[in-house]
Amino acid sequence: MAVRRKRKVRVKKLNLAIFVLVVVLITALITKTIKGIYLIITDKKEPEIIEKKEEKKEKKVKEEKTSFEQLSYYKDTNHNRYIRYQNKNPNLSIETIVTYVNIGLDNPYYTYTNKAKDLNKITIIVNKYNYLTRDYVPKNLESIPLSYARSGMKLVNVAKDAYVEMAKAAEKQKLKLVVTSSYRDYEYQEDIYNRYVKSDGKEAADTYSGRPGFSEHQTGLAVDLYNGKKLYTEFEDTKEFDWMQDNAYKYGFILRFPKDKDNITGYQYESWHYRYVGKEIAQYIHEHDITYEEYYAQFLDK
Ligand SMILES: [Zn+2]
Repeated sequence: MAVRRKRKVRVKKLNLAIFVLVVVLITALITKTIKGIYLIITDKKEPEIIEKKEEKKEKKVKEEKTSFEQLSYYKDTNHNRYIRYQNKNPNLSIETIVTYVNIGLDNPYYTYTNKAKDLNKITIIVNKYNYLTRDYVPKNLESIPLSYARSGMKLVNVAKDAYVEMAKAAEKQKLKLVVTSSYRDYEYQEDIYNRYVKSDGKEAADTYSGRPGFSEHQTGLAVDLYNGKKLYTEFEDTKEFDWMQDNAYKYGFILRFPKDKDNITGYQYESWHYRYVGKEIAQYIHEHDITYEEYYAQFLDK
C-alpha cells in the first residue's frame, strides 16, 4: 500500500508540473496573438522592423550623396540631374556622371544654353551649351604674320604670340604650319552655317559646323591649320600633324575635337582645329587625354 501511495503522490506532482507548463505556454501564446491582432487591427508593424528598414533607406541615400559629393566638382544644384543620369546610364562611374552632367550632356545639344562666362579670358568655353552674343568681339585681336597664315587671319594677342612661336619651332624641323581660318565674327559664322544647312541639311551641318554664336572661332583663340599644300581636311595625313600631336601642348594649344570624343565635344573629329588654352592646361589635357569640356567641368566651372 505504501508504495502505491508514494506513486500516487508522484503522479500528482507530475500532473501539476504539466499543468503549470501548459498554463505558461497558453498565456504566452495568447499574449503573442493579442499583440499580433492588435498590430493587424491598428495596421502597425513591429517597431524593430520599421527602424531597420528606415536605417537601410537612410544609409542608401547617404551613400549616394556622399559618393557624388566627395568630388571637388560636385554641384549641389545638379544633384537630381546626377541621379537621373545615373539611372539612365548605370554603368558610368560617379566621376563621369558628375562631369557629363556639369558639361550639360544630360540634355540635347543647343538646349539649356548659357551665355559664355570668362569673356576675354583664355579659359573661356564656347560649345553647344555656351554661346557668345552677336556683338561679342574679343579684345586685343592681332594679325598673324603672312609667313604662317593666309592673309587677314587674326587671333587674340597671347594666342597669336604662342602660335607664331609654335610655327617657328615647326619651321626649324622643316615643317610648315599655315592658318587657314582663325577669328570669325558672328555674321561670318552665320553665313557659313546657313550655307552648310542649305547644302547638307541642318542635322548634318550641326555635326561639323557651329551655329552662329556657338563657334569657338568667335573667341579669337582657335585656328584651323594646313601645311600649305594639302587641303586642311587632310591635315591628319601630314608630318605637320604628327609634330602637332607631340608638341602643340608645349605652346599652349590642344587638339580641340579629338577622335572618338564627339559624344563629349559635340563635334566630329577635326585634325586641323586647335585651341589656345595656355601651357598649363594644355599639358594637363595632353597627359590625361581628356577634352576641354571635361577639364573645364572638373577644374574651372565654379
Ligand atoms: Zn575650326
